[in-house]
Amino acid sequence: MANSRATVLVVEDETAIAETIVYALKTEGFEPLWKTTGREALAALEAQPVALVVLDVGLPDANGFDVCRELRKRHAVPVIFLTARSGEVDRIVGLELGADDYVAKPFSPRELTARVRAVLRRSQAPAATETTKAPAKPTEWVHDEARCRISYRGTALDLTRNEYRLLGTLLGAPGRVFSRDQLMTAAWDDPGAALDRTVDAHIKTLRAKLREVAPDTEPIETHRGLGYSLKES
Ligand code: CA
Repeated sequence: MANSRATVLVVEDETAIAETIVYALKTEGFEPLWKTTGREALAALEAQPVALVVLDVGLPDANGFDVCRELRKRHAVPVIFLTARSGEVDRIVGLELGADDYVAKPFSPRELTARVRAVLRRSQAPAATETTKAPAKPTEWVHDEARCRISYRGTALDLTRNEYRLLGTLLGAPGRVFSRDQLMTAAWDDPGAALDRTVDAHIKTLRAKLREVAPDTEPIETHRGLGYSLKES
């Protein structure tokens, strides 16, 4: 398990670009999985664990923004957008889609793989420390996305579905402040039916469960008027 190659889902309809990316990722030790449409990409995410998604904004069946919004409802997987126009960059930044990074075309394969590594380092820091040899520091968080389980300081948490999705979203980008809207979109099947307060209520129960494991710390931080973030460890 520790030596398995991280699967990177590449969603890009232009064959030449996709082949360059796939080749570069393979060379860097990743396991690329190439899909050409948003629909195929979403199906692939349901079918197997994916460590990161490289998502082109211009796809034949949907735009990358909609695909990202859709996948965010069910997955906390990091996303790097591929953009063709500078206007798209503004949208990525402005819409707060939960993108972890973006790369503007044309880009060098080396630039992309460097971003992939950096985002994975950020988002999977706990898993990464597991595979390094230094045993000194205990692994704070372990997120097993395939089994939908999260462990905190070595204890598997007993979470409801919404709690799991909330925490998974926060874990996807430690330090990042998520608004209640963003958390609701990520964690609820029907966000429109939930009240703002629902996020607060679930954060409260989550905190209680985390306190049972570690009474001395408060890993979820409240940002008044903004939302919540997970403390960077
Ligand atoms: Ca395209």
